Amino acid sequence: MAIALSLDDGPHPVYTPQVLAVLAHYGITATFNMIGQQVGPNLSLVREVAAAGHTITNHTWNHDEHLPHRTYAQVCAQIDRCNDALAEAGQHPTIFRAPGGNWGPVVYRACAARGLRPVDWTVDPRDWDQPRVTTEEIVSNVLTHTKAHDIILDHDGGGDRSRTVAALKIYIPKLLDKGFTFAAM
Ligand SMILES: [Zn+2]
Repeated sequence: MAIALSLDDGPHPVYTPQVLAVLAHYGITATFNMIGQQVGPNLSLVREVAAAGHTITNHTWNHDEHLPHRTYAQVCAQIDRCNDALAEAGQHPTIFRAPGGNWGPVVYRACAARGLRPVDWTVDPRDWDQPRVTTEEIVSNVLTHTKAHDIILDHDGGGDRSRTVAALKIYIPKLLDKGFTFAAM
């Protein structure tokens, strides 16, 4: 019944601390897929995420959603700049998530060269589709689709994530009640 919760597009000075508080309240760990250019201005927040036992991964330097169409050198640069930023916070990720879930041969090749495991998601509650998707829809999307070994996609950055935070407060205890256990990747 193990599942993984992933939070993409942070760190964010407003929403990442709110997500951390919810996760701490329920004593669960998650995976934060971070955008490199946001790491430098939020170094203490990145350290806080790591200290709480969560996994931090590489989500490129500036969330380039066209990676499969870039050159190998450009993809490597996206990965390396994010790794360099995270290294400033003492983080050395072993996992990579492609922005927008846009994978391709050049992306896999760069991941292999950098020793990064490519990890996508299996449950997308569409919390990124703001302001269209409501808190209730995020909750029902997660509760309807999540089964053992799933990876849930959510976001702590990239826009107003107040509905994501509200949804986490509702669906995490419900998933725990159903017998799911949360694992950081
Ligand atoms: Zn993303």
